[in-house]
Formats: sequence, C-alpha cells, structure tokens
Amino acid sequence: MIGCTCAVCTSSDPRNRRLRSSIWIRSADAGILVDAGPDFRTQALTQRIDRVDAVFFTHTHADHVHGMDDLRMFNFLQRRSIACYADEYAEANLRDRFAYIFNPRKDYPSTLPQLQLHRLDGSVSVGNIAVQPLPIWHGREPIMGYRFGDFAYMTDVSAIPDATWPLLEGVRTILIDGLRFSPHPTHMSVDEAVAVGERLGVERLWLTHMSHQIDIQTAHQFLPDWARPAWDGLRIALNP
Ligand SMILES: [Zn+2]
Ligand SMILES: [Zn+2]
Ligand SMILES: [Zn+2]
Repeated sequence: MIGCTCAVCTSSDPRNRRLRSSIWIRSADAGILVDAGPDFRTQALTQRIDRVDAVFFTHTHADHVHGMDDLRMFNFLQRRSIACYADEYAEANLRDRFAYIFNPRKDYPSTLPQLQLHRLDGSVSVGNIAVQPLPIWHGREPIMGYRFGDFAYMTDVSAIPDATWPLLEGVRTILIDGLRFSPHPTHMSVDEAVAVGERLGVERLWLTHMSHQIDIQTAHQFLPDWARPAWDGLRIALNP
C-alpha cells in the first residue's frame, strides 16, 4: 500500500508485493485475459503474456480496467481486433469511459486499441476453452466471475447469489477474493472465502485481492491446508 511501512509492505518476500488482480489463461491455441488493470503492461512483460484472443471483464472499477490501452500491442502482434466481453452495465460503462476507443474521432492522432466489445449472454467459447460467466455480488453491485472447466475465478466478490451456486457445481479449484481477516462491505473476508470453498468441497482454494493484512509467510496459520494466498505469477494447471 502506498505510504505504508508495515511488515508486509516492507517484506523482502516478493510474494508479498502484489499487483492488481487479474488472470491469464493460456491453452495451445488461445489466450484469455480476465481484466486489464493498471498493472497489465507490467504483468504482460513479467509473465511473458504472448497472446490475448479475448478479454473478459469482471466489472469496471479502475483497478480492473485502467490498463485497457495496452491491449493494443496484441493487435499489432496478432494483426486483428480482440473480442472483449462484459455484462450490460459494464459494457455501457466501458463505452462511456473509454469513448476514445469505442467511439473514436475520425482524426484521433495515434493508433487505438482495436477491441470488439460484446455483451455477455451465457457461455462463450474461445478456441477450445468454454468460459462460463458467474453472476456475483460486489457489495450492492452485480459483477461477474468466470468458470473455465473445473476452475472458477471470483475476484471482488462479497456474496454469491442462489442462482449462481449450481453453475459452480463440480469446480475443484477456486481463486477467490479474500481481502482481509475482518469483514468488509464489498469484499469477502478470509473466513468467508474459506466457507465458499467448504460449501463447494473444492480441492484447492487460492486467495486473491488481499490487502496488506495478509502476510504470505504466516497466512497458513489461519487457513485449512487446502487454502492458501495466491501470489503474482502463480501458475495453475486447468482441466478445460
Ligand atoms: Zn502495509
Ligand atoms: Zn471492485
Ligand atoms: Zn478490485
């Protein structure tokens, strides 16, 4: 956290230095990005992201969308536009906030990202990967998580609606918001995230979007042995 000198913020363990939450799925024939936050460029460089065929947005808070412009490098590399998916509110909000991309002036002086923004309507296939949207709550705002085979990603989640639980059936690994130990109005606490894992009977739970309350070296003391904090660069094998 900017300006903080606590043990986690000054830790020498690189896993305690966290960029904004995002994931990238890579199969033999496709690359899928979930969110493009302000750290996207750094993440693409450090994690050697080499392909983005589609971007799925969870919601439009600044920490999840303000790296949008850097997607244009993938237009140059792949020589085509990139499909982006968002729910109804997020789609309208992105068109408004990134009007220079989605409604450009004819005389805009530089090369813009070429993005085709689609409204989510059920599951989407990208290459051989099926992407299942998961409607979830972020405080009072409805947002999206996503399921890929037996893996589900739910960042910025505070509650899971009744209708979404069946969509999570059979999930074996979840990467889920666990902001801090105490409750928060728009994010799950560590205990709330673990309770989701217990209800689903997952084999593995990874926490994401953690605040500096969570020390990667001591967090295991507060977690069952199937749950751990994730870290930047963590790789998870998926079964699509
Ligand atoms: Zn701190
Ligand atoms: Zn958010
Ligand atoms: Zn966030």
